[in-house]
Amino acid sequence: AAKAAGKSAYRTCTPALRESAVTRAELIAELRRAVDEGQLCVEYQPIVDLATGTVRSAEALVRWRHPRLGVLPPAAFLPLAEETGLIVPIDRWVLHEACRAAAAWRERAPQVTVAVNLAAAHLRRPDLIATVIAATAGAGLPPRALTLELTESALIEGSDAVLDRLRQLRELGIRLAIDDFGTGYSSLSYLHHIPATELKVDRSFVARLGAEDVRAYATVEMVNRLAAAFDLAVVAEGVETDAQHAAVTAIGCVHGQGWRYGRPAALPELLTALTPVDATR
Ligand code: C2E
Ligand code: MG
Ligand code: MG
Ligand code: MG
Repeated sequence: AAKAAGKSAYRTCTPALRESAVTRAELIAELRRAVDEGQLCVEYQPIVDLATGTVRSAEALVRWRHPRLGVLPPAAFLPLAEETGLIVPIDRWVLHEACRAAAAWRERAPQVTVAVNLAAAHLRRPDLIATVIAATAGAGLPPRALTLELTESALIEGSDAVLDRLRQLRELGIRLAIDDFGTGYSSLSYLHHIPATELKVDRSFVARLGAEDVRAYATVEMVNRLAAAFDLAVVAEGVETDAQHAAVTAIGCVHGQGWRYGRPAALPELLTALTPVDATR
């Protein structure tokens, strides 16, 4: 009865959710329980060496196996998680899970690292370093095998405390990627301060490469050159087609991620895609 009047559906991009008339309050309550009840899961998407096709890393991407609504993509619940602060336990769970997974796949393919997305909220937390150490050490994963992906908007808040935390992570050997590069409203000056190790070219630019969009081509080329000048690695995101693959390769990007190389998949599927170490030689 309490929620009888004016029950408005929480609007998201997911048809299942939109039609379910789940209220925002219900969704928040369910999300709060989702971590404890084991409803979250992680898929892994390969990041490859463009020249050889070898898998170099895998990005951990969270999903919510909702009991009634099916599998929800991050866009359906992460905005709500960020608003409510639930993003902190969610990201922490993904981080632990991903570090354990990576430690397991490195027994098979020792060179393959893992990338984990971190929401802006973590950068403001004094316990960030302890959280990351707990995850890597707990899993027996060397810190250099972990890349944390941060967005420009998270980094732009860059207070001294945030910069200090980022430097501490780098000192531990953790790699730092700037995700969706080129889509935030940030100035380029922060590149001079942030101790990043790589840039991920947003897939909106890569998507337009196949159409031989001159401006998209120039944008990716510019990002690639900028990265080289700052001694940063580049990952082209969202490579779907052969034409896009040819374009990012011609531009000189070293790494790629996208459906052309592999969709996000459960850990067992990633494991079969990884070349096993031949123990007989
Ligand atoms: P992102 O970090 O930029 O991750 C890449 C997104 O692009 C993923 O979407 C991936 O499935 C999608 N993608 C990869 N290749 C292709 C392609 O070739 N074509 C197309 N159309 N899409 C492709 P997903 O899994 O829906 O995740 C969306 C965003 O949600 C991520 O973008 C990231 O910002 C956020 N996210 C995902 N997992 C986590 C997490 O554990 N914590 C936090 N804080 N954010 C997360
Ligand atoms: Mg990412
Ligand atoms: Mg991205
Ligand atoms: Mg993106």
